[in-house]
Amino acid sequence: MSVTAAEPLRDGHGRLIEDVRVSVTDRCNFRCQYCMPAEGLPWLDRKELLSFEELERVVRLLAGMGVRDVRLTGGEPLVRRGLPRLVERLSQVEGLREVSLTTNGYLLERDADELAATGIKRVNVSLDSLQRDRFFHMTRRDALPQVLRGLEALARHPGVRPIKVNAVAMRGFTEEEALPFAEFARSSAFQVRFIEFMPLDADRSWSSDSVLTGDEVRALISAVHPLEELPRERSGTARVFRFTDGRGEIGFVNPVSEPFCADCNRIRLTAEGKLRTCLFSLHETDLRRPLRDGACDTEIEQIVRAAVWRKELKHQVGEEGFRRPARTMSAIGG
Ligand code: SAM
Ligand code: SF4
Repeated sequence: MSVTAAEPLRDGHGRLIEDVRVSVTDRCNFRCQYCMPAEGLPWLDRKELLSFEELERVVRLLAGMGVRDVRLTGGEPLVRRGLPRLVERLSQVEGLREVSLTTNGYLLERDADELAATGIKRVNVSLDSLQRDRFFHMTRRDALPQVLRGLEALARHPGVRPIKVNAVAMRGFTEEEALPFAEFARSSAFQVRFIEFMPLDADRSWSSDSVLTGDEVRALISAVHPLEELPRERSGTARVFRFTDGRGEIGFVNPVSEPFCADCNRIRLTAEGKLRTCLFSLHETDLRRPLRDGACDTEIEQIVRAAVWRKELKHQVGEEGFRRPARTMSAIGG
């Protein structure tokens, strides 16, 4: 493979890489059942995290190779001190189309104005129940009113759109949430999406039976509110449906029942600077060492290109021989 700066970033299966998920911290103020254990995880030391300067450099190099979209995630990205300053720096990186954020929403009431002012373009807020006790059960935090206030604070900024509300769909829990979320989607400006539960939970409670599929949630909703599918966006992860009476949309991200690996255009960077080419990667590539050892841009670029070239063809969740990665969701950056 010949390498030049202008060449787009492509993997060995011919897929163009245009999207990077950047984890800014492994820490979190929630303990969602499907992600973290109740007692938390051993956190990284501050000095192990990539600094804002290091993150900006990696993102600038990726943008030079054709990456267009950066999504900040974690852990909970808003617990990283000064996050809006990072948003501001990244928003100015040449070649990027947008900087977006995935958050549990707890600190949005505090940060929404600053995030909007520093250039955040779209935000996904994770929210698994609209009932306070059920929200508490799932996140192990009594924080629903705080998250809803955060959503309202963000909605006051018309420059931040779309605002999506993402719910992880788990059998035995989410069946009861389907219709309330459908009503929420129909009566608010938020786009609601259900995401299938993946085997990345620290408690290891995942089994294929615990996945409430997108089709199942959709059947519960369409029995009451008929739905019609919209054309799929290129490299979009969600199947989006509109309510046939014209009142809003609802989406389903089905990585388990309908994997979208063939169109995957994403890579991930963990908070301590490991490049991961798949959520389920068993191998990762360290960028922090070369960054701190004084590697030049060309050297970093070559490391990235070589890692991306080996990007996994697909995940093997549900197949014989599937191996879970050692890291769980909050330590990867979902
Ligand atoms: N703390 C932020 C949040 O919750 O939005 C960002 C990080 S969180 C790891 C990113 C997304 O991953 C959230 O939408 C969360 O619901 C989702 N997630 C976590 N564990 C998951 C799992 N086992 N299966 C599916 N989605 C999961
Ligand atoms: Fe924290 Fe997000 Fe994981 Fe919930 S899903 S524990 S909010 S990182």
